[in-house]
Amino acid sequence: MTVINTNTPTAELQALDAAHHMHPFTENADLARKGARVITRAEGVWLNDSEGHRILDGMAGLWCMNVGYGRKSLVDVAARQMQELPYYNTFFQTTHVPALALAAKIAELAPGDLNHVFFAGSGSEANDTNLRMVRHYWQSLGKPEKRIIIGRNNAYHGSTMAGMSLGGMGGMHDQGGIIQDIHHIGQPHWYSEGGDMTPEEFGLMRARELEEKILELGADRVGAFIGEPIQGAGGVIIPPSTYWPEIQRIVDKYDILLIADEVICGFGRTGNWFGSQTMGIKPHIMTIAKGLSSGYVPIGGSIVCDKVAEVVGKNGDFNHGYTYSGHPVASAVALENLRIIQEEKLVERVRDDIGPFMAEQWGSLGDHPLVGETRIQGLMGSIALTPNKEKRAKFASPEGTVGYRTRERCFANNLVMRHVGDRMIVSPPLVITHDEVAELVKRARKSLDEAYAGLKADGLLKSA
Ligand SMILES: *Cc1c(COP(=O)(O)O)cnc(C)c1O
Repeated sequence: MTVINTNTPTAELQALDAAHHMHPFTENADLARKGARVITRAEGVWLNDSEGHRILDGMAGLWCMNVGYGRKSLVDVAARQMQELPYYNTFFQTTHVPALALAAKIAELAPGDLNHVFFAGSGSEANDTNLRMVRHYWQSLGKPEKRIIIGRNNAYHGSTMAGMSLGGMGGMHDQGGIIQDIHHIGQPHWYSEGGDMTPEEFGLMRARELEEKILELGADRVGAFIGEPIQGAGGVIIPPSTYWPEIQRIVDKYDILLIADEVICGFGRTGNWFGSQTMGIKPHIMTIAKGLSSGYVPIGGSIVCDKVAEVVGKNGDFNHGYTYSGHPVASAVALENLRIIQEEKLVERVRDDIGPFMAEQWGSLGDHPLVGETRIQGLMGSIALTPNKEKRAKFASPEGTVGYRTRERCFANNLVMRHVGDRMIVSPPLVITHDEVAELVKRARKSLDEAYAGLKADGLLKSA
């Protein structure tokens, strides 16, 4: 058998990849034409590819690499745990130290009475758990008809059947349909949907869509509302200040569980341990993954409040679990990752130091002719691209054309920045230095300049 490794010529790697590897969320036609970029190593916030490029990772992998690449202590903990106990399950009244220690640590970090953790392998799986747990909870209380969950358009809650259904990505719903008894309301995206309203008016209006939906469906049929404190994959949508307090009022009033999907916001990204603290809400359940292990190993879970955990714990078996729930290696690595975040005060660093610096630098892009607004909270930010700042206008070209072209310029300048439609988004590792932030923004500006010149030359600066 031929040995394939990082010394294999890039073209050969790309050919094998194209022949055998089906990629998630990829523009397949473009991939076939160009070949995939092969990432080979990483250190801190820097990626290396097989062609010798050094690339600044402005997305922390997929929003997960909170403590940065190349942390030896995480490797050591994984190796030790693999030698001691590489696997055992947590079904049928057994446990092991990594899982219980991690659950206790998460309970300590989580606010209020969020004291219980159900482990999963990913954020999507955790949201599957949430869907089942919410329905089981209400059923146990003698209210089986309270099975509807309300989510939001353009929300992202993962890619499994439940995660995709709870989310509000039309392109995903279109490929096979969604689970029954899940409904969606509008998103608090003032910039593109707020029209002439002030952000505050619009935030209230969008929150009140929840109340209207509950009244339309019947409060006795609605079990939970799910939302990301700040939408991530939807384009880093930071809601107006009026939005979450009104949502909280409504879920309290109608006795509906609140699920905060903290998969991106959790573990420091917004400048608090959890985005719910930044937004001032009190969820009954939090979805976690990504930053929980900084992506070194796959792990996710649901942090559950006393009230829900008590009902779930008292009503026989919850017939649910994953082979890898609380996997010992993943748990040990996650625990060490949390120790690093705490010891290096990364959450405080985002809140008081690198977050404010990044906000200032990121905000400086607002004067660029292509930029309609810049938004950032902690270390998750976005830029709206527009052909006309005053009117918050959209482009005449199909949505995403300009974003895609801008992302291509970022890639060419060795910066990973994603686009969502015609919005650019950023979410660097929490350990990014001041110099690296300045470099990131410099490369972003250069990419915007090049994109602008190209769009102008191709006559693509027209408003819709
Ligand atoms: C990434 C993400 C998920 C899904 O997590 P996976 O680990 O990819 O399954 C769920 N919710 C949010 C908010 C996410 O960003």
